[in-house]
Amino acid sequence: MKAYCFKCKAFQEMDFPVRVIMKNGRVGTRGACPVSGTKMFCISKGSAVEDKRT
Ligand SMILES: [Zn+2]
Repeated sequence: MKAYCFKCKAFQEMDFPVRVIMKNGRVGTRGACPVSGTKMFCISKGSAVEDKRT
């Protein structure tokens, strides 16, 4: 999964992606940039309910 790294100012393939569900029911993925080690966060499309189907 790719996410935008603010340190590299580019999209990087996320390292150690962990799925997180936010209080508002949206799903996101948290991980680290493999290049700079910066923490990344990417909000997925759709809700947590929809995400369970996959
Ligand atoms: Zn980076």
